[in-house]
Amino acid sequence: MAKSGVMLVKNNSPETANKKKKYYRKNVEFFKLIEKIKLWPSRTGMLHGIKSIKITGEIAEIITHCDEKFIVWNSRTSRAARWLRNKWCVCACKKCKIPTWKIEKYTSTMMTQKWGSNL
Ligand SMILES: [Zn+2]
Repeated sequence: MAKSGVMLVKNNSPETANKKKKYYRKNVEFFKLIEKIKLWPSRTGMLHGIKSIKITGEIAEIITHCDEKFIVWNSRTSRAARWLRNKWCVCACKKCKIPTWKIEKYTSTMMTQKWGSNL
């Protein structure tokens, strides 16, 4: 029984891989999404409002409303992307004064977009 189960997985995997490839998003697109939603999660799990974002290749320089600066590399992007994907209930930065509608918009954006393949 276990053997047939393995075979099933094997048979399905090429198809699954192809489907995943379709939805693959590059990190640059992640930056663009960050640029769009204008929200950034810090390492402590605080959600900041982005004042400005400068994308240079695979590096993004983010300045938040509370004047914190984040240099985002690929590895950190993964962390942030995972964070954004997994933590729906957020602790918003008080200094940044993120409006509620923005957080709601972020939540719905994250819910509708499948991010798993990006990681
Ligand atoms: Zn902040």
